[in-house]
This record gives sequence, C-alpha cells and structure tokens, in this order.
Amino acid sequence: MNALNLTASEAAETHVAELTALLLQNLQAGLFTSRAFLRPGDLRPEAETQAQAFLAYLRTGDGNAAHRHGAQLCSSGVGDLTLVHVGHILRRFGSLYLAETARPGYLEQVEEYQGHVIQGYIAQRSTNILEEQERIRSALQQNLQRYTLQLETAAELARTTISSLELGALLTTAVDLIGERFGLDYVAIYLVDDANRNAELRAATGNEGRIRLAARHRLRTSGASTVGKCLASKRPLLTAVRTGEAPAPSSSWLQHTQSEMVLPLITHGLVIGVLSAQSSRSDAFSSQDITGFQIMCDQLANAIENARLFADAQQRAGDLAQAYDQLKELETLKDKFMQNVSHELRTPLTMIRGYAEFMLGGQLDVAGADHRDALQVILRNSEALSEMVSDILAMLEISATKTAATVISIAETVEDSLAGFHIVAARQGVALGAALDACSQDCWVMARSDHLRRIVDNLLGNALKFTPAGGQVNVRLWEEDQRVCLEVADTGIGIPPHLQERIFERFYQVDSAQRRGRGGAGLGLALVRELVESYGGSISVFSAGVDQGSTFTVMLPRVVA
Ligand code: ADP
Repeated sequence: MNALNLTASEAAETHVAELTALLLQNLQAGLFTSRAFLRPGDLRPEAETQAQAFLAYLRTGDGNAAHRHGAQLCSSGVGDLTLVHVGHILRRFGSLYLAETARPGYLEQVEEYQGHVIQGYIAQRSTNILEEQERIRSALQQNLQRYTLQLETAAELARTTISSLELGALLTTAVDLIGERFGLDYVAIYLVDDANRNAELRAATGNEGRIRLAARHRLRTSGASTVGKCLASKRPLLTAVRTGEAPAPSSSWLQHTQSEMVLPLITHGLVIGVLSAQSSRSDAFSSQDITGFQIMCDQLANAIENARLFADAQQRAGDLAQAYDQLKELETLKDKFMQNVSHELRTPLTMIRGYAEFMLGGQLDVAGADHRDALQVILRNSEALSEMVSDILAMLEISATKTAATVISIAETVEDSLAGFHIVAARQGVALGAALDACSQDCWVMARSDHLRRIVDNLLGNALKFTPAGGQVNVRLWEEDQRVCLEVADTGIGIPPHLQERIFERFYQVDSAQRRGRGGAGLGLALVRELVESYGGSISVFSAGVDQGSTFTVMLPRVVA
C-alpha cells in the first residue's frame, strides 16, 4: 500500500488524545462491548497506542510495522477478545477520523491495518504455542528420563541386593548406588532399634558418612528431626531451604545440605527405618521424585528383611549345630563313663565274689589266718566300691542339682575332716599336722557344706593313701588377694610331672607298682576339680617327681560373712 497523503488530516493527529477519550466514552456506554468482559481502564493505553499506530500506518503504509505491532500485542499478553475489541475501537476511530478529514476509503485501510495486526498477532501466537509445546516436551522428557533412571536404579538395586544377604554390605551397596546414580551429596540409611526408641545410622556415603558411622550416630524415633517425622508419619518427606532463608537444618542434615528427601522403609506394614537423600541444591528434589524413590525404598526394605531372616536362620542353624555337637560329646562321655564304671566295678566285685565263694566252698581254713585275710579283702573291696559309688553319685549330683550355696567357714570344715582322719593317720604311722591360724574367723567361702567337706576329705584321703609309714601330711589355710587358700602337702610317692594334669581327668590313675592295690576309681580329683570350679575357684598340684611328695592347693573366692 502506498503512503497516503495526510496533509489534510495532520490536524487530526494532534487530537488523538481527545479522540481516544471519545472512544472510551463510547466504550463505557457499552457501544463496543459488554462491560462484563472489559473494563475501560484496561483499554485506555491500548486504545491510545492503537490510535498512534494506525496514524503511523496511514502515513507510512508500513505493513511490517503493523505486523510487528500485532506480535507485540500478543507478547504483552493481550487476549483474543481484547484484540477483537481493539478492532472495534479502530473502526470507530476511523469513522471519527473520517468525520475530521472527510476522507473516503478509510474503512478498507482500517481493515488492511487490522489484517496486518492480526497476522502479526497470530504469527506470534503460533510461535508462543510452539515454544510452549517445546517447553512441555522437554520438561516431560526430563521427567521421563529421571523416572527411567529411578526405575533402572531400582532394578539394579534389586539385582545387587537380592544376592547380598549380609545386611551391612547390602546397606552400603544401596547408599553408594543411589548416591552415585543421582549425583547426591549424601545418602544415609537409619534402622529402628529393637525397642523402637532410636533410629541408628547403619550406612552412609562419603567421608561425613564414615565419621557419623564411627560416632554411632542415632536419632530419636519420636524426635523433631526429619527422620523422626518421617518415621512417625510413615510418609515421605521433602524439605528444602527457600531462597534467602537461613537453613533450619534437621539433625540428620550435613552442614551444606539445602534439601532432603526422607522416605520410609516399610515391610509388612512396619516401618523398619528410613532412607535420607540430601543435596546441596535447594531444588534437587520434586514431589515427582517420590514415586520412583519409594519403589527403590520398598525393594530395599524387602532386601533388608530377607537379610535379617537369613542372619536369623544362620544363627539358629549355628546354635543347632553347636547343641548337636554338645549332645554328641555328652553321648560319647556318657558311654565312656558307663564303660569305665562297669570296668571299675567289676574288679572289686570279682574279688568279693571270689573270696566269698572260697569261704562258702570251705576252701579256706575257717579258723586260720586265711579266713581273716579273705574277710579283709572283702572289706577293702567293699569300701572301694562304696567310695566309688559315692564319688559317682556326687559327680552326677553336681551337674543335676543347683542347690543354693551358703556362707561357711572353711576352717571349721577342715577341722572336722582332720578329726576323722587322725585315726587313719595314726594307724598308718603317718604324722598329720595342720596350720590353720593364718585363716582366722575371716575365711568364709560360698559353697554347700557337703561339697566343701568332700573337697577336703578327698585331698586328705589321697595324701594319706599315697604316703607310706613314717611320712607326713600337712594342711595349711591362709587368705590371699580376696581368696581363701587350702594346701594339703604330703611326703609320699609323688607324681611324675608329665602326669600332673592328667590326674584330674575322670578315671585317670597313675599306673605304678607302688600305687596298685590302693583302691579308688580315679574319680576323686576329677570331682574335686569340678566342685572347686563350680564355685569360681581353682586347683593345682605340685610334685617334684616320684617319691618327692605332692602338694595340692585349692583357691576359693573369699566372701565377707
Ligand atoms: P583315686 O585316688 O581314686 O585313684 P583320684 O582322682 O583321687 O583317684 O586320683 C587320681 C590319681 O592321682 C591317683 O590314682 C594317684 O595316682 C594320683 N594321686 C592323687 N593324689 C595323690 C597324692 N597325694 N600323691 C600321689 N599321687 C596322687
């Protein structure tokens, strides 16, 4: 279009403002539009600009400028409806202008101008729509990528954790994998303790994680930390520092954390812990991330449950295996014990039976010495039998009964025992001495009195049994380091050093010509040791060797009466 000759109309230009005002009055009167849609104030600047632009168009005939103007209207957010109204305004303006200039053909020019404006407007609208589409597409693409990554990580987590049945390794793998895949600054897993009181840090990434793990970091399950809140609500929790705000960090946060996502680990409806993901960016997590992360956490919770069940099963299997071994050992011991007992019972019984048969068969001289000897053999073997049976019974009793011990005086027990052995010692020609003064009234021990008596009797009995006539047996009592010590020393046949530990085994007897025929079943010392140890004490022996005498020392914890 050619520029119009506007000389005649130039005067009108100076009246644009008034013309606009006039337009607005018309507008207010509802001539152009419904008031429900447009308020006049909204159109005023628009009407002015349009009037100016239209005049410029009439002068220059520049369609491109009108086109650009339309695009500008669109960019400045003018809606379609407004655009239509602007069209009305222009027509009206045109007719007023015509009245001023009496120019024909104005309407076509208005329409031309309007056409350019609308084209510009529509072109800009299309561009905007395309841009918006692109923006939405790329946002969707990003979300999809993120979600895919979350699902891929969930799958990877499932693959790695399914084969990992050791809980510690499983948790470490999980935090490392999630931290690395999502470029997070810190990932941590807390598990709730048995009492449901504390959430204990069990795995965490990086150096900070190592420090916190070493310090056994824990948070209250009912506390105000993000971990506590997530545990209480059983729901995921997103927390971020808003721009310009000072961080109000939770106690689970690291120093540079700006945002955190905490998710519950749930199995069978129970919250067993949480996963905390932290970032130094405040916009690191969005609510859309929750779905993907929760899938990971559900898988993780199942893997944790499996690892725990496995550890439990292993523990039980271990306990069972141990119990089975113990049973087997007990069975073997029992068999050996029965074998030994029957064997040991047989010897004295054969002697008794043999001599009794001799006597019954009249094969012995009834009035003579043979008869006495036979009776003595019978008596000695009966005594050995009865000693053995009472040792066996006492031994069985220690493991079967747990009768309460009482506080007793060891000095009194030793004195009672000595009184019984004086006659035996005198008969054997062995000097029996005692030094009990070092242990005065204070020597109290915790034991059953019959057990203590059996300990003393067995040691004294052995000392006399293995000390030939002319020898000596001495008993000493003293107190040392909160312990009461009992020593029975003899000048008898002694014990070879290499056998000194073995004599405490059940049925063990040192085999030597000197010892044969002295009776006993090799149970006495085993019984003494079991009793002493059951009261928290110990027994030891010292002998320089054969014919060098032996010294037995028993130590028991001293108690204050
Ligand atoms: P027992 O005396 O009934 O044979 P013990 O268990 O009391 O059984 O003793 C085991 C063995 O230790 C004895 O057979 C003996 O060989 C040795 N023994 C124990 N006490 C003494 C001692 N005072 N002197 C030398 N040998 C001893």
